[in-house]
Amino acid sequence: MSERTFLLAANWKMNPTPAAALVNAHGDQSKNPYHPHADIDVVVFPTFLDVQRCMDAGLIVGAQYGHPEVSGAHTGDVSMAMLKTIGCRYVLCGHSERRNDHKETDNDVAAQAIAALEQKIHPIICIGETLEEREKGHAEAVVKKQLKGLPLESDVTIAYEPVWAIGTGKTATPTQAQEMHAFIRSQLPKDRRDSTRILYGGSMKVENAEAMLKQPDIDGGLIGGASLKPEEFGKMIEIAEKMIIN
Ligand code: PEP
Repeated sequence: MSERTFLLAANWKMNPTPAAALVNAHGDQSKNPYHPHADIDVVVFPTFLDVQRCMDAGLIVGAQYGHPEVSGAHTGDVSMAMLKTIGCRYVLCGHSERRNDHKETDNDVAAQAIAALEQKIHPIICIGETLEEREKGHAEAVVKKQLKGLPLESDVTIAYEPVWAIGTGKTATPTQAQEMHAFIRSQLPKDRRDSTRILYGGSMKVENAEAMLKQPDIDGGLIGGASLKPEEFGKMIEIAEKMIIN
């Protein structure tokens, strides 16, 4: 097992915050699987509206997006600087849903990651190929292109999220995921290869969590659908914690 600490990130997308996340966050935490844990990092990504509420509940919180400019004429956006001001510790950059819905380019994603680092917010940068790109044998080339221009010499986390596996119930096999994670690691600057966490994302759930987390280059998960179910998310945390002990 590597020296990298597991990170389990709950991406709630445009869904209501699970009520359990706000229960007893400061006191009895047995009912709140989203609270900070001792041996693994657990971060939640609520909508902007609930970032403050989750922080008040004692959770470690990230935003699903941040605009690179500090302020200005960008209706509907929130800047990295504003996220920093309220105490947000993480931010997702380049989730495939934002690349698709908001036409974010690789350059936009790099600008977000750089702006996050400037604000001392930890970016989780999402990359991954579409099904068509995989079937044409272009998966590695696509990912390599997405990595270009990113501030990989800094302390960032990469999330490998094959687009065809997000929210579809289709998961990459542990072998497919490991192969791509190893490839991504090989593309990192030499002195960041051992320390940079690479998360898997794409229909991760209780049934496949252990097999994924066992892979030497998979350092955690970016979890959408399953993270909205507190019991299921809690079980995934238990699986990760057991793997550290064993
Ligand atoms: C995600 O939100 O990044 C994700 C991987 O979603 P899901 O787990 O639902 O596929």
